[in-house]
Amino acid sequence: MGEIRVSTKSRTELVDITSQVQDAVRESGVLDGICHVYVPHTTAGITINENADPSVRQDILMELNKMVPFEDNYKHLEGNAAAHIKASIVGSSETILVEGGRLLLGTWQGIFFCEFDGARNRRVLTRIS
Ligand code: ZN
Repeated sequence: MGEIRVSTKSRTELVDITSQVQDAVRESGVLDGICHVYVPHTTAGITINENADPSVRQDILMELNKMVPFEDNYKHLEGNAAAHIKASIVGSSETILVEGGRLLLGTWQGIFFCEFDGARNRRVLTRIS
């Protein structure tokens, strides 16, 4: 198992971790297989989307924040109900094929850690086999 540490700076933020995941693949020595990326947090997630234009991640966050307002008379008393809901919408893992020691991502695709209750220090777990 590999571990990537992410320090987020904002309450909600998408952090491009593609190069760190690629490093984990290289360190594993696996040439052809599968890479699992998993976030062990209830208020963060993982998604794959465009990393060429940074405005794409801003638009994703803007719309998620509209769909799930920070305040909405939630019953969860910790004050971060919106973050839990966004984490479930986005999901906590991704699986990427590995070929020739490289992640088989599309030209415009990147892997993003999704912070919904920052800023915090977070962990992303990987297993390549
Ligand atoms: Zn909570």
